[in-house]
Amino acid sequence: MTDGPSKDHGSPGNRDVVLDPGVYYVCQRCTACCRWPGDVRLEEEEIPVIAGFLGLIEADFLQQYTRLRSNRNGLSLIERENHECIMLEGNACRIHPVKPGQCEGFPNKWNFPGWRRVCEAVPVAVELI
Ligand code: SF4
Ligand code: SF4
Repeated sequence: MTDGPSKDHGSPGNRDVVLDPGVYYVCQRCTACCRWPGDVRLEEEEIPVIAGFLGLIEADFLQQYTRLRSNRNGLSLIERENHECIMLEGNACRIHPVKPGQCEGFPNKWNFPGWRRVCEAVPVAVELI
């Protein structure tokens, strides 16, 4: 993936999101978004849910799987040295049923300029009411 956007692929908080209400993008589970550099933002209310899913007390979950976001304003899942998310196991997400909103929301609820070059999701027309 050399021709995609540079290292920062944005986050749900970015200001450059462009959404098309007439299209829903169906994820193809290519896992590209689990492998690119940057934060996987964890919100406060997601912590007990994910910890419980893993059968851990919150303190252990926080210690083993999280770090400060790059802007130090909140937590992120740990990024491995090769930049993939610590929850990625082969081509599957270890916490798929309870994955963070950042993961669940991409690319239909947030995206970034150039995202189509790095995501294999297939567009499907949505009937607008
Ligand atoms: S990059 Fe796109 S198609 Fe690939 S896993 Fe992420 S959302 Fe799905
Ligand atoms: S939590 Fe799961 S879906 Fe989200 S980046 Fe990590 S492996 Fe991918």
